Amino acid sequence: MSLFDRLFGRGRRERDEDEEPPRRRVWGIRRDVLELICAAAREQHPHEFGATLRAEKGVVTEVVLTPGTIGGDRHTFINYHMLPIDATIVGTIHSHPGPYAIPSDADRQVFNAFGHTHIIIAEPYTFDTWIAYDQHGEAVELEIVDE
Ligand code: ZN
Repeated sequence: MSLFDRLFGRGRRERDEDEEPPRRRVWGIRRDVLELICAAAREQHPHEFGATLRAEKGVVTEVVLTPGTIGGDRHTFINYHMLPIDATIVGTIHSHPGPYAIPSDADRQVFNAFGHTHIIIAEPYTFDTWIAYDQHGEAVELEIVDE
């Protein structure tokens, strides 16, 4: 590729693997919130923990408990009418008692219907066992933000 092409983006420019994608509306999660999620998931084990996520200025700042379980693979019941109508609520968090933080079909339906930033945390509920997803069930990266 010529220097001109590189400077002005002419020609067929392949997207670099390590090129930063544009930042999402929600791009981070506060470390203490993630710690709380780990602790809550452990406490609920072997049951699922479910809640909604509140974000401010692109960073998840709070776990908001809601009536009923959000998501859930074996006993899904989602009270949409009880979910907060609140623009700061950006999505859901739930735990998977098991090794896989992969959304089930039921999870994908929840992701698609409510919010745009979702987290699943699997056993053993550590900083290494959670994955964030967008509303389409595609994994997205959330930075851990120290306050
Ligand atoms: Zn699930």
